Amino acid sequence: MALNSQELRLRCKNNESLLHVEVRAINIEKKITGGYKLGRNYNRQQNFIGTYGVARDITEKKKAEEIIRFQHNHDLLTGLPNRTLLNGHLNSLITHSNINNEKFALLFIDINRFKLINDTYGQSVGDEILQSFAKTLRQSTRDEDILARLGSDEFMLLMSDVISSDDAIAAAKNIISKTTTPFKHDGHDIHITLSIGIAVYPDHGETREELIKNSDIAVCNAKTKTRKRHCLYSNKLKNKNSNTVFVENLIRNSIKEERFVVFYQPQIDLNTGKVHAAEALVRIFADEETIILPGKFIDIAEETSLINDIGEIVLKKACEDIHEWNKRGLHIQISINMSAIQLAMDNFAEYVLETLNNYSVNPKEIELEITENTLVQNTKKTLSNIVKLTDAGINIAVDDFGTGYSSLSYLDHLPLNTLKLDKSFLQNITSENMQNTIIPAIINVSNGLQLDFIVEGVETQAQHKYLLQQGSCIGQGYYYSRPIEKDRLIEFIHQHGQKK
Ligand code: C2E
Ligand code: CA
Ligand code: CA
Repeated sequence: MALNSQELRLRCKNNESLLHVEVRAINIEKKITGGYKLGRNYNRQQNFIGTYGVARDITEKKKAEEIIRFQHNHDLLTGLPNRTLLNGHLNSLITHSNINNEKFALLFIDINRFKLINDTYGQSVGDEILQSFAKTLRQSTRDEDILARLGSDEFMLLMSDVISSDDAIAAAKNIISKTTTPFKHDGHDIHITLSIGIAVYPDHGETREELIKNSDIAVCNAKTKTRKRHCLYSNKLKNKNSNTVFVENLIRNSIKEERFVVFYQPQIDLNTGKVHAAEALVRIFADEETIILPGKFIDIAEETSLINDIGEIVLKKACEDIHEWNKRGLHIQISINMSAIQLAMDNFAEYVLETLNNYSVNPKEIELEITENTLVQNTKKTLSNIVKLTDAGINIAVDDFGTGYSSLSYLDHLPLNTLKLDKSFLQNITSENMQNTIIPAIINVSNGLQLDFIVEGVETQAQHKYLLQQGSCIGQGYYYSRPIEKDRLIEFIHQHGQKK
């Protein structure tokens, strides 16, 4: 008996909605001998007299199936395709591009330090930011590109039919430029930065796994850069990726084996030529001959939150040194770099003050350097920590001033003492007579706000003389001294004198 089963889609007349109907029917034929029989061959029109069956509205069932299929293939927070769907698209694109001899690009887009946003503002704000970010990403990409969310703060963009890697690099730059506007939350601006790793088929991999792995290697590399936040895969990067694991192990071992040392770089008051203060800069003493500079490990320390351990070590060592100097009648202000991760911690201010107390260090002998990017984030926890610290008498310096976002309003709101102009500003000063309008203008701002003004990266006599002409500057750089060990700092201070 042939039971004929079909699904029909019916559009309703009054509204545009679709009805899904399942029809199970049996044809009825008239026998030549008389009587009826059920559904054999309804092509024999002369015997066919009708259909007997049941029609069932399965619209809800269909919707449920569709939702399940959607959930299986999509990320529910952003509505974007998930890894499963992306894998399917990648497989088809590999086949298509192979046949047609075309290239395509895979962009691995990662939000830097997203954990910090979640930790500071809570998961629901983090989710809102991810949704809003996904929307901005979608608007910054071509309609034919496939944008997927892999999980947490990781997204992938699949760009079909690219002529060369330049197309993918241009797309990455465009995405980075379109996502610089801060997100607003509760009166705060929340800035995010991205790292993008690019792999192009077939140049950087011929299989799905290879392409994903190589875009991941490229994004890890992009994270180690401060300015250029995108990176195209190349074979050279392969070794660097294993370098990340290597550096993480190096940090962990150096903590265990107490290999961290603190060097100090003097800051010179250019009006008097005397030492104004010194900056504590951390290093790893790998062996007798090798000192590893923070450029090699700070980013990875921040990614892994190991920066908290390093921060504790540096603060303790600096306090230990200050305590020892104080006992010898020497008082010098030491500035210590603080990472955004540390400042966002609960009870961070209490921890710092307790440490100072343990070593009998007066808060006035300490200045904390906080980068401009951290300060503009201006989160509740960071702000409350800063206020507690300044209330206790600790000075705050804005580090890398001029590299952050353009809004200067934070200068007015926060209890700051010092502006440290980023070293990039001095790089193009090649003669003492250069007519550079930016540095004097910033000096005016700094004077107006009654802040100390430090220029970093003074390397040449011409730069030194240029700054001397500007007046009211403090200089820090190789021209005066490289960062040096604590005993050599004392020698330096004896040679050059110290501010009263
Ligand atoms: P930073 O805070 O901007 O520190 C100044 C960096 O510029 C230091 O690099 C210093 O050695 C270097 N420098 C000084 N004078 C000159 C110069 O004349 N020319 C040039 N080209 N560079 C100069 P260093 O010690 O390698 O530290 C790099 C960065 O690592 C620091 O940049 C800071 O962001 C971070 N860092 C260092 N120590 C710590 C620490 O204890 N905690 C944290 N969170 N970050 C640290
Ligand atoms: Ca600094
Ligand atoms: Ca700096």
